[in-house]
Amino acid sequence: MAVVGIIPAAGGGERLEADVPKAFVACGGKPLVEWSIDALAAACDRVVVAVPEGWDGDVPGPAEAVAGGAARSESVRNALAAAPEAKIAVVHDAARPLVTPDLVEHCVAVVEEGWDGAVAAARMTDTVKEAGAELRVLATLERSRLWRAQTPQAFSAELLRRALDVDAETLAAATDDASLVEAAGGSVRVVEAPLENIKVTRRLDLELAEALLRARAGAR
Ligand code: C5P
Repeated sequence: MAVVGIIPAAGGGERLEADVPKAFVACGGKPLVEWSIDALAAACDRVVVAVPEGWDGDVPGPAEAVAGGAARSESVRNALAAAPEAKIAVVHDAARPLVTPDLVEHCVAVVEEGWDGAVAAARMTDTVKEAGAELRVLATLERSRLWRAQTPQAFSAELLRRALDVDAETLAAATDDASLVEAAGGSVRVVEAPLENIKVTRRLDLELAEALLRARAGAR
């Protein structure tokens, strides 16, 4: 079954305050996105990366580049359109360099079992409050049922294509692809991710990711 890796890497990364788009910031001696490309290439037949429109730099490693869109899910849709042969699509943010081929394969296996989608996720360790006007607490949510959704997220490519076939406003409001697949009626399952699968958003995350990558290399 053709498994295609899709990496949305077209964000600007304003919160990182770097002079290149976030995916191309140096992390542990190579561009941030290259860690994700290498992990996905080890577990997928092909990897397509959505890069910022007008980006004329290289895309590192064994990957192909397409122009991303204005919103994250639009970037995913553009990359998926370049892989019509995909039966399973694995979406993974360039911002999570600690992904492993194992975690990707685990998500793919869940889709091969018959689920429409599999989402890497972490258990909540904090207590979660819902707050409204004046920051008044409205509810304390039941923590044991809550998960922090991450990537990789693997899907039946056919269903993901259908889920992404929505208006620009809906695409812009989606913070992950699983939510669109859920809205399209798909069955989605959580896959518990290792603690280290962090997302690089700010400078501190970048330093933490570099330390974790160094520790991983040292452990080999
Ligand atoms: O900004 P944030 O970290 O949530 O973005 C998640 C991922 O989506 C990043 O890898 C970013 O490059 C990508 N993205 C994209 N196209 C956009 C916005 C974000 O590919 N228009």
